Amino acid sequence: MNYCKTCILPDIRPGIRFDGSGNCNCSTLSLKAQVDWHQRQEQFQALVKEIKSQESLYDCIIPVSGGKDSTWQTFKALEYGLNPLCVTWKTPARNTLGAANLQNLISLGVNHIDFSINPKVERKFTLKAFERMGSPLIPMHMALHAIPLQIAVNFRIPLILWGENSAYEYGGDDEALKGVHLNHAWLKQYGVTNGTTAEDWIDNELSRADLIPYFWPSDADQAKAGVTAVFLGYYFRWDPLETYHLAKEHGFQADDRPKIGYYKFADIDDSFLITIHHWMKWYKFGFTRLWDNLSLEIRNGRMTREKAIDIVCQTGDETPHNEINQFCDYVGISHEYFFEVAERFRNRKIWQQDSAGVWSIRNFLIQNWNW
Ligand SMILES: [Zn+2]
Repeated sequence: MNYCKTCILPDIRPGIRFDGSGNCNCSTLSLKAQVDWHQRQEQFQALVKEIKSQESLYDCIIPVSGGKDSTWQTFKALEYGLNPLCVTWKTPARNTLGAANLQNLISLGVNHIDFSINPKVERKFTLKAFERMGSPLIPMHMALHAIPLQIAVNFRIPLILWGENSAYEYGGDDEALKGVHLNHAWLKQYGVTNGTTAEDWIDNELSRADLIPYFWPSDADQAKAGVTAVFLGYYFRWDPLETYHLAKEHGFQADDRPKIGYYKFADIDDSFLITIHHWMKWYKFGFTRLWDNLSLEIRNGRMTREKAIDIVCQTGDETPHNEINQFCDYVGISHEYFFEVAERFRNRKIWQQDSAGVWSIRNFLIQNWNW
């Protein structure tokens, strides 16, 4: 396994691309410096004008969780005079802080739909996704994209305002998908559904009817309804710390300490599902959410690589025991079975086991790691 010389991400991370000099797509930041953000803002203004001229029911849909980025998206939409309908896929693991932040976002002055999925279906689908792909949040990622799209198409709301384009921010290898539009190809590649669509999950336990909230309207259906989905991060420079500061000025609350990773203002609205999702990266790719966050800090010039490595060392083992217990209760499995499934996804290309049964990662970034 090779690690980027600038940040700390390994070459095994999905979507990452290394150049000849041993660096990953850290270059996004230098590309950002070349962007004419004033011109992009004018493009957004022109888009707003075009949308307003359509006199639709609502000007746009904003998919929101209540997090810092959705607060930023909502604030921007209101700032530019759009009349949005905010839509949330309600996580079954919503916590009090998440609920308070969502309420705060609504109080900025928007109409809002909190969409709950049939809990029997959601639980079944979550367990199936965990067992089959080691990715318990495939249902969440499918639904949080499908629900706003379905509402936009059915109510003929012409615009969907997404936040940052992860293909651009975290390094994607498909240039065509790193721009302004979120389309079906983007969803399949960057929608965190392991390349699957709702169609792929129909079986004798989950019917097509059960899975309705997970179906993405096709590009053709969207075009027919006059719906365009764009990333706000294309028009305005996205930086997690900046969106956090703006959200905080408008009532968003961070946690007392990071729930997972490095930031106390990200991944905090859900009490266990997000944590399990990120934790599986340790088995599959040998890094954690902390590494993702620290790499962003390095890319933004706020941290040295040495400091990031030091933080990983100090943090040590990150096994989220509490969240694993909550997840097991939620999907109705035992603790032992959880680890049995997780082990199935331990990537043998990077992990090795010694004669005492201890697993370790070959060529790990940190020498003397306590395995
Ligand atoms: Zn890098």
